[in-house]
This record gives sequence, structure tokens and C-alpha cells, in this order.
Amino acid sequence: MSVLPLRLAPDPILRLKAKRVRNIDGSIQKLVEDMIDSMRASQGVGLAAPQIGVSLRVVVIEVPDQDVLTLINPSIVRRTGERDVQEGCLSIPGYRGEIKRAKTVVAKGLGLDGKEIRVKAQELLAQALEHEIGHIRGVLYTDLLESMDKMYKVEPPKEEE
Ligand SMILES: [Zn+2]
Repeated sequence: MSVLPLRLAPDPILRLKAKRVRNIDGSIQKLVEDMIDSMRASQGVGLAAPQIGVSLRVVVIEVPDQDVLTLINPSIVRRTGERDVQEGCLSIPGYRGEIKRAKTVVAKGLGLDGKEIRVKAQELLAQALEHEIGHIRGVLYTDLLESMDKMYKVEPPKEEE
């Protein structure tokens, strides 16, 4: 298990459509472990494989008080409603933006055991699903800003002492 350096915008890997995972083998298991470590090291809510330099359709999400969710080859099945959210991205440090996300999201994908997982989500989990599944399609939240004044600088996270 290792914490890997994050790819930052405008790294072109963040703009590729990631490839479908064909075999959920040991290399995918290790990828997921590295993604979880890297996400936690940056105190992120989610991470997509391209953010650590692997252009495969794998995402991990960890919202407070819930187990980490791993989705392989995920997709959004349905989105309903609309709400304003503030969003940031580990690949775009130091900024946040105001965008619109769905109120309710249904997503599906495969777990590490190869079985299909369906998630119906609201609030932060719904937002994270849209955000991370965007990553594997080469979409960043900044693409969804109505204008650049919906984006603003935030204090960079403090260096560890
Ligand atoms: Zn992101």
C-alpha cells in the first residue's frame, strides 16, 4: 500500500476517457489500496484512478461515517433534481467552485469481488459519485462552472508539522 503523488490539472491524463477494467485481478486490488491510501493522505472524499496516473475506470469514495465505496467501471444510471454545491478537487488544489449537482444520483459499478453494486445517494455521496465518475470520463468540475467568478481561491491546506 502506498501513497502516490497526485496528478494535477492541466495534466493531460485527467482529460482522457479512462479504459474499462477487463479483469479484476491483483493489480486492480493493489490499485484500489493505493487509491484509498492516497485519498486519505490528502483528506479527500473520493479519488479516481487517473488522479494517480492510471487511466482505468476505478473510483473510491469515502464520506464521513460510511465504509469506503469502491466502484469499478462505474456509471451514473439516473440523476434527479438539482442543487447548488461547493466543490473542490484534489487535482485542482487551492480552489473551490460553485456548481450545480443532482439531488439524487443512482450509480452502478462492480465491487472488487466482481459483483454489481448499485448505489442510490443524496447529499455528499451523490456529489462525490458525480465528481469521481466525471473524472473517468475526463470531466473536471471546473467544466461545470457557469462562469469563472463562480470559482475562488481557498487557503491551501497546511503543511504537516
Ligand atoms: Zn476530483
